[in-house]
Amino acid sequence: MPSRPNILFIMSDDHAAHAISAYGSKVNNTPHIDRLASEGARLTNTFCTNAICTPSRATILTGQYSHVNGVLTLDDEIDSSRRVQSQKILAAAGYKTAIVGKWHLGNNPPSNPQGFDYWNVLPGQGDYNDPTFFEMGEKVQYEGYVTDIITEKATEWLDTVDGDDPFFLMVHHKAPHSSWIPAKRHENLGVEGEFPEPETLQDDYETRSQAVKMSSIQIEDTRKENLKFDPPPGLNQEELRSWAYQRYITDYTRTVQAVDDSVGTLLDYLDEHNLADNTLVVYTSDQGMFLGDHGWHDKRFMYEESLRMPFIAKLPGEIPAGSVVEGMLLNLDFAPTFLDYAGIERPGEMQGESARGLLRGEVPDDWRSSLYYRYWMHLQGHRIVPHYGVRNERYKLIYYYGVTTEDTRMPDLEIPDEWELYDLEEDPNELNNVYGNPEYAAVQAEMLAELDRLQAEAGDTPRH
Ligand code: CA
Repeated sequence: MPSRPNILFIMSDDHAAHAISAYGSKVNNTPHIDRLASEGARLTNTFCTNAICTPSRATILTGQYSHVNGVLTLDDEIDSSRRVQSQKILAAAGYKTAIVGKWHLGNNPPSNPQGFDYWNVLPGQGDYNDPTFFEMGEKVQYEGYVTDIITEKATEWLDTVDGDDPFFLMVHHKAPHSSWIPAKRHENLGVEGEFPEPETLQDDYETRSQAVKMSSIQIEDTRKENLKFDPPPGLNQEELRSWAYQRYITDYTRTVQAVDDSVGTLLDYLDEHNLADNTLVVYTSDQGMFLGDHGWHDKRFMYEESLRMPFIAKLPGEIPAGSVVEGMLLNLDFAPTFLDYAGIERPGEMQGESARGLLRGEVPDDWRSSLYYRYWMHLQGHRIVPHYGVRNERYKLIYYYGVTTEDTRMPDLEIPDEWELYDLEEDPNELNNVYGNPEYAAVQAEMLAELDRLQAEAGDTPRH
């Protein structure tokens, strides 16, 4: 393996691991992403530290938690002048750097991404068809389908890179974010009505906190532009949710398919240009997604489907082909990992760790076995309250820190602060909150202590 491999980072938006066949998807097939997994390592325990688009993207660039990089919510812009961003450090070390696709770290027009030799990004969420982009600050509109355009612009940039310097290319797909509009070639993929339902589709949220019960991410309540059709008349609540699930998952899986095509095109490009042997290729998503799990779409909650990210990485001669890695990886670790492959020492301001050993299949003795999570958005969108928590290899503790009537953002609402504790081995679907259950008293005390430890280690402070 060369000392400074190219890095091709492919990230989609809201692509849950359980909609990738290499991860055992029951709803779709992703042959090209599966090919990447067969040629590299598939990580089965990758998690984000804040399951929402903009903050996760900021964490990926900076290797810092949200409260440190300042991007806590969808409304926060990244401070592009900050030094500690992976692309800036790689550029300073001689890498050619580019980002194509979704930026979503500032909107009006896109705050200029810095540290990239070339950038061509969507404003905000961007459009699926005939999208507008900002290419090096200039507004341009392209005809066609956004996923294909991003792929094309990425390969066009690769064509301009001469072979002397390594490259760092971030290909950030808009898909499969809502409103789940597929490419024309995938409009008839799958059979609506025949997708298997998740076990928790009809969840009634018994034993869960008030914060969970009052959220509004049930599929049947999503916007008309997402579901696109009115339900048939006369459905009861259960039937309505089943109908909405089929509508959602049909369009979602169709939208994923062009992303899978993109991965195939990019892998083929590397092969055809003799780049495959010296390019680290990563496929991931900015966070997970509820695919009807708990009756939900969207993300944000610290539950598994939202917290988990897919992560597949290939680098011949360094990462064993077809390997499966169970060690815990966080989005916090991506930037230090890129730098490590480039032979650059991690700056002290980065809070993550290089996963290079992990990707080789060697879990270091002192590798993390627990993670700290915090969702900051205060009921803006989907009535999901802020919360933080800790997850280790078996248990998860979540603290929803409540809303008082003095809160000006939701003056009519009072939500108590509440805890949830899950035994993921006994209850992988997180249906049975055992917080306060005497059988779990020792576990609960350990998890509370671990939360304090990780919160302090991250430099964060409790709500109260
Ligand atoms: Ca997202």
